[in-house]
This record gives sequence, structure tokens and C-alpha cells, in this order.
Amino acid sequence: MTDRLVDARVPRDLSDFIAGLPKAELHVHHVGSASPRIVAELAARHRDSEVPADPEALAEYFTFTDFAHFIQVYLAVVDLIRTPEDVRLLTYEVARDMARQQIRYAELTVTPYSSVRRGIDERAFMDAIEDARKAAEADFGTVLRWCFDIPGEAGLESAEVTTRLATDDRVRPEGLVSFGLGGPEIGVPRPQFAPYFDRAIAAGLRSVPHAGETTGPQTVWDALTHLRAERIGHGTSSARDPELLAHLAEHRIPLEVCPTSNIATRAVRTLDEHPLGQFARAGVLVTINSDDPPMFGTDLNNEYAVAARLLDLDERGLAELAKNAVEASFLDPEGKARIRDEIDTYTAGRLAARAS
Ligand SMILES: [Zn+2]
Repeated sequence: MTDRLVDARVPRDLSDFIAGLPKAELHVHHVGSASPRIVAELAARHRDSEVPADPEALAEYFTFTDFAHFIQVYLAVVDLIRTPEDVRLLTYEVARDMARQQIRYAELTVTPYSSVRRGIDERAFMDAIEDARKAAEADFGTVLRWCFDIPGEAGLESAEVTTRLATDDRVRPEGLVSFGLGGPEIGVPRPQFAPYFDRAIAAGLRSVPHAGETTGPQTVWDALTHLRAERIGHGTSSARDPELLAHLAEHRIPLEVCPTSNIATRAVRTLDEHPLGQFARAGVLVTINSDDPPMFGTDLNNEYAVAARLLDLDERGLAELAKNAVEASFLDPEGKARIRDEIDTYTAGRLAARAS
């Protein structure tokens, strides 16, 4: 991709290092990961859509202009996901794009409510994502796990449906590990979702709500207190509350930071004002993520480049950052150790090659 919304302009050897670095991603949305290539395939299946099927026209359609345009593109892509086969194609092809970036493991945020609401049979939906997950692992070596999130703007009915789909043994998919809450924060207070998170946690899921992206630190406190968050999606405004930063650091509650997304949505005005450095200095475990990458003109590799600039990282620092995401993931200990070893081997190899 050439049209970066945020171009970190890191030296070539560092961007090459990032491109080959084995990575894990913890905050990335299913529909929001549909690249122009994938959308072209979907648009070719559904000719009545307003979305162009021609790749060049699509690339232009995807060029980020402002947040309203992002919502328009997002909804147009949602409209293209009409059948279980569309769901399968999207999921499998997203994994292919991840594998190309050396993403070994991803917790993909899926909003089953939107698809079920649009008339896709819930079991067929689960079969489609599971089928894609298994095929992606076999074909690309990328391990996918699911986070089912409540679309906050759709209210408590969506919370009820999402919770049922996430906890009913007859429908919940094998790859489901966590439970989230997305959508707007303004006018959508977190505490009202407490009973749904209680049910999801009782069913063995981990709590990972978005909080503090577009509202203040109190929303993060609410997510911790009422939703028993184990990780925070974004958490950007935590920077305004030293006590909260200390709490996150002390309790090892990681933040899922998505720098370009924050600029795109204007949660942060300029890259120089981004609080990533402040989080790191406060001892908070930070992870780097891409959120809705093609729609924000980015990908995970670019987000690592942005982080390298914000935190002034060299290869070793970037390897540590990649390991943060492994540590903060819900992988089992063996899975974590495997990716950590891969990161170490890769980094040592690259540094040795440079020294010789
Ligand atoms: Zn998000």
C-alpha cells in the first residue's frame, strides 16, 4: 500500500526488519480488515452493490478522506457480506493478508450480531468462520481466535444476542476466546453491559472492551470495574489520569494501541501528541494493533513503523514490542513460547547478518 494516512518514514532497514518480524495482533476487526482485493471479490459476486469491482476504482474508493468516508466504506462492505460463503471468503482472505505480514496469531473481533441481523443463519455463520479458521491455519500457518463484540450503538438487544451466541454451547464456535464491546462511547455508558459481561466471563471468555478511545479515563475505570476488563481496546484517554496509568501498570492490564486509527478518528490530533510513549514510560504493557487497517490506510507493519518512531525503537526494541502482544494474548503457554522463540531467532539472525 502506498497511500499511508500516517507515514512513519523509518529507515529502509528497519521497515524490512518489521516486514519479516513474526507478530501477534490483538485488536483488529473482521469486516474492517477487508482489503480492496477482498472487497473486489465480494463486489464481483454482488453486482447490485455501489462498491466498484474494478481493483483500480476500488483503491480510490478506499483512500481515506475522513471519518464519515470510513463509515460509508465500512457499511458498503457490510452490505457485501450476505451469505455464509461471503463470510468464509472474507475470513480466509483476511488470514492470507495477515500471513503476508508474518502475523502468526490474531484475535479477530467479529460482530456476529450484524450478520445474524442481516439474515445469515447463526449456525451457518459459525461454521463459515470456523471452516475459514481451520483452513487458514493449515494453509498459511496463521492461528486465528475470535473475540465476539457487542456493537454498542445497537443497544441492549444486540448485547443479549451477542451474549447468547457467545455462551450457548450449541452455537458458540470453538475458536472463541474473548468478549468485547465496540461502537461509539459517547452516549453508550459501559456499566449497563455488566450483566452480559458477567455471563460471558462465567462461560470462560476473557473481557476485552473498547474504552477511553473517544471519551475520558472514567470510561476505562468503568470497563475495569463493571466489565472486569483484562485488556483495554485503545484506552487512549488513560494518559490523562496518572492514577489510572499506575493501576494499569501495577495490574498488568495491557492496552491495545492502534496509532493510525487514533489519528483517523481524531481521538488524537497529531502523531506527535500520541500518548504511546507516555504509556510505555508509565510501565503499562502496550501492544500495537491496526484496528480496521485497509480502511484507515494502514497495516500492522506500518503500525510497528509508527511505534518505532514514537518510541524511538531499534530492532531489539521492536522485537520486545512484538513480544508484548504475545504476552498479552490469550494463547496457551506453549503457543506463546513458540512465537517468542521465533521472534528471538529471527532478531538474532538479522542482527548477526548485519554485523558480518
Ligand atoms: Zn476497534
